[in-house]
Amino acid sequence: MSRAEMEKQGITILTGCTVNKVDKHGKEFTTHLSNGSSIASEQVMFAIGRHPNVANLGLENAGVAINPDNGGIAVDGWSQTSVPNIYAIGDVTHRVNLTPVAIREGHAFADTVFGKRPVQVDHATIPTAVFSQPEVGTVGLTEAQARAQFSHVDIYKTDFQPDQGDDVRPRHPHPDEARGRRHHRPRARLPHRRRHRRRDHPGRRASP
Ligand SMILES: Cc1cc2nc3c(=O)[nH]c(=O)nc-3n(C[C@H](O)[C@H](O)[C@H](O)COP(=O)(O)OP(=O)(O)OC[C@H]3O[C@@H](n4cnc5c(N)ncnc54)[C@H](O)[C@@H]3O)c2cc1C
Repeated sequence: MSRAEMEKQGITILTGCTVNKVDKHGKEFTTHLSNGSSIASEQVMFAIGRHPNVANLGLENAGVAINPDNGGIAVDGWSQTSVPNIYAIGDVTHRVNLTPVAIREGHAFADTVFGKRPVQVDHATIPTAVFSQPEVGTVGLTEAQARAQFSHVDIYKTDFQPDQGDDVRPRHPHPDEARGRRHHRPRARLPHRRRHRRRDHPGRRASP
């Protein structure tokens, strides 16, 4: 759905490949992709990810171990490091690098160590969003992952669209529209909602 909307706006979406190299020729760039193709453009924006900045903190001297898999400070489910009286939470552990997750890990640590209320953070169902237009958001398992884990899975599909019958445009067009430019109008009501349900096993809910 989001992909179709973006493609309608003229955006080309390539999946299953990444950027291998970017060459600059004068004011232009050629981006070489892992699928062997290349893209010529005037600008390139490339999100390369992040890495925990744990060098030169003296962690080795304290005996705090680094997680060899992700380069962050190694912790267990209680955010405890290899040194029992040292805890690490947030991006420095390179688990799920989001603000609400860091806050939750901090709360869980404080509850556990100072509040006498042991709490572990569940990193399995964290909602994430891409602030694109339209927005993309995910939470929990993908359909493929759910099918691999559960014998019975119900699939629901929902999409949103502006309520066509509820036209709140003023009688006269905005000056931007009169000049042929797009003008953002506030919506008067919540969008109309359509639901589709695909049932693989009628009468059964998702169960382990
Ligand atoms: C461009 C960008 C966009 C993002 N957008 C989102 C978003 O939309 N939503 C979302 O949920 N998350 C977003 N994040 C991620 C979010 O910012 C982090 O997950 C969050 O800030 C982690 O909190 P933290 O406390 O672990 O680390 P930080 O917020 O990085 O705090 C670490 C602090 O430690 C300090 N520090 C570092 N080294 C030392 C040292 N040696 N001694 C003392 N202090 C030190 C730093 O100066 C910093 O103040 C974004 C991150 C980036 C980079």
